Amino acid sequence: MRRLTALLLILMLVMGLAPGMAEDETIIEIRDIAELKDVVNHPGAHFRLMNDLDLQDEDWTPIPFSGELDGGGYGIYNLEVTRVGGDVRTTIDGNMKKYDSVFAGLFSVAENANIHDLKVIGAHVEIDAETHCFAAIVAGYADNVDFTNVTVDGRARLNNYAVMTGVGGLAGFGWTAVNECQVRAELIFEDRNFDSRCEQFLGGILACGFCRILDCTVEIDGYDSCHGYVHNGGLVGMYWHCGKKNFLRDAKRTVTRNTVTGRIYFFEDNPDRRAYCSGDIGEPFKKKMKLNLFKNDTKGFERKELKENKEEAKKRRKAGIRYEVVLLPETCDNPEYELLVNLPSEGEWGYTEHVCTKCGYSWRDHYTAP
Ligand SMILES: [Zn+2]
Repeated sequence: MRRLTALLLILMLVMGLAPGMAEDETIIEIRDIAELKDVVNHPGAHFRLMNDLDLQDEDWTPIPFSGELDGGGYGIYNLEVTRVGGDVRTTIDGNMKKYDSVFAGLFSVAENANIHDLKVIGAHVEIDAETHCFAAIVAGYADNVDFTNVTVDGRARLNNYAVMTGVGGLAGFGWTAVNECQVRAELIFEDRNFDSRCEQFLGGILACGFCRILDCTVEIDGYDSCHGYVHNGGLVGMYWHCGKKNFLRDAKRTVTRNTVTGRIYFFEDNPDRRAYCSGDIGEPFKKKMKLNLFKNDTKGFERKELKENKEEAKKRRKAGIRYEVVLLPETCDNPEYELLVNLPSEGEWGYTEHVCTKCGYSWRDHYTAP
């Protein structure tokens, strides 16, 4: 009898009739901000964005996400994040040292997730963090996340007083697969911790972690002021297993056919200077990670280092004087901005451009849907 029941169950499973099957097919539709926030109440579910979603005037608290998010080609726009989410996860540096860390982005942490056909447009993330922190535009922490055809356009800035820290265009810390994504990001990191050498990461796709990255386009404008160890990459800051060796066994570690343009301007105020910065991956651990890194176009990327004279730095440190320089895209003491409103058109987003009439630096906000 038991055998018959088992057979019947197998038959039902094959035919897609087993209980629970119908429920798996349910798609939760997202039409407004309340429904976007409600994803936290349905972990693992399948969501679909049904229209463009304006977050203007919403002081967003980063939320955790798991499951599938089908953006339907629509955009979540004018995201403004000034605080971290409530989730704490362990991050691990290159010496296997562990840190309880906090995260910021549209999502604080994304775990076992599939995010695709989504646009995150005109995002602005700006975080002051006392503790170990990763900030990114989409997910501060990504554990087993598949990103496909995700477009990111925005700015992220992290000012950190702690040791383990980073900022990413798409994601902060984690292990992911990234396919056919487009990132256009201004990333700024300011290390406000002068007393210990931080482990700092900045990447157009991912700040620190490992991933498969195929057919992506990154346009980066990075600024990194660091009193520790920098790891800066147009794609990934440091390519590292993050202690996830089991996951690593099955993961495909290929990074290819990506295009990176733009620049990363940085200094590494550190007597043990390493200055890892590259158009693809800052510190790749290529052999150790069995990484297939090939055919990435970084010709349009500029690695720009502000180097202190070695002898002067020695003297300065001896005298106990801090290196107070902060690298920023806006270089004027008293900038003057001119506002240019670009109206949306068929397939193109509108936005307001703030252009400094003195140095030419510009940034955009108040996006309007096509
Ligand atoms: Zn200016």
